[in-house]
Amino acid sequence: DPYVARQDRYETTEYRRSGRSGLLLPRISLGLWQNFGGDRPLEGQRAILRRAFDLGVFHFDLANNYGPPPGSAEENFGRVLAEDFARHREEMVITTKAGYVMGPGPHLNGGSRKYLLSSLDNSLRRMGLDYVDVFYSHRPDPDTPLEETMTALHHAVTSGRALYAGISSYSPAATREAAQIMRELGTPLIVHQPSYSMLNRWVEEGLLATAADEGMGVVAFSPLAQGLLTSRYLGGDVPSDSRAGVGRPSWRQNMLGPEVLERARALNGIAEERGQTLAQMAISWVLREQGDHTVTTALVGASGVQQLEQNLAALDAPGFTEEELRRIDEYAVD
Ligand code: NDP
Repeated sequence: DPYVARQDRYETTEYRRSGRSGLLLPRISLGLWQNFGGDRPLEGQRAILRRAFDLGVFHFDLANNYGPPPGSAEENFGRVLAEDFARHREEMVITTKAGYVMGPGPHLNGGSRKYLLSSLDNSLRRMGLDYVDVFYSHRPDPDTPLEETMTALHHAVTSGRALYAGISSYSPAATREAAQIMRELGTPLIVHQPSYSMLNRWVEEGLLATAADEGMGVVAFSPLAQGLLTSRYLGGDVPSDSRAGVGRPSWRQNMLGPEVLERARALNGIAEERGQTLAQMAISWVLREQGDHTVTTALVGASGVQQLEQNLAALDAPGFTEEELRRIDEYAVD
């Protein structure tokens, strides 16, 4: 059946400016890393994407290698875009990246101009797009001069393939250097995409401050720690349809150790007292008010419509009291 977007989709959406740019992002965004590959039925993917857009999620995050297999998430997204969202392209913020391994040989990995620009062309072709909204350097590459990687991002923008440029998982020092180069080139970096969750707080050691200083928004990825900060594993079993159960390479076996489960259960208790699920509290916490260090958007994944709906309801929750934050700090450690 043809898709008709809900008329009221922006009425309850909360969004924020990405750093000192004109780009606005919804407080919760959807990533297509794991649940949109060639191994998942397209109709399930379509249902998640439609529901997201209907609920005001207009920011969709991809990368060249998302799947599995690599490239298939962009292909699937491109199909649904063409069939359902063609009329809505201008409303949507669609992002992609290059930097991690995409194939064999020396030039399908890293931060070279050769890899970034050829990869971006392939991403556009797979998604059937003329441009993406943000093109990211997916990771710092110590073997490629930073000037080369940044000049490639700059060219992606000036050539019209991307509207804005961003970086992902760069250290505070590398972020400063990259931002300086890009300012001089005339294409400011407007967004940084780091990991951030109650179990992974590295960004608090300087990156949030650096991003704020440099005028970059922060897109926090894996705010649920890939599902650890949800009800999925609290009972001690590993559901066969979960990311841990399916045995994704990104899921390290040691992630579900007894200490982590203890902490997740304690955090779940605090969430229950707040009237939230653990997943909702994990999102509320990443998005909590931190002055000019406040995260722009929480970039979540979802393997089904109900997860997505539950996660979006995190925005209805009250803010945290000092006492709640203090208690969370006892368990929210790396
Ligand atoms: P999350 O931490 O949000 O984990 C998502 C997973 O958590 C889902 O697949 C699902 O697991 C589980 N989940 C989500 N909601 C619920 C719920 N309400 N109840 C129970 N379980 C739930 O994020 P991801 O790790 O998926 O990353 C999100 C996005 O961030 C990616 O899609 C990508 O766009 C980006 N990213 C970027 C990286 C980078 O290097 N820049 C690296 C990693 C991610 P299950 O599948 O088991 O149901």
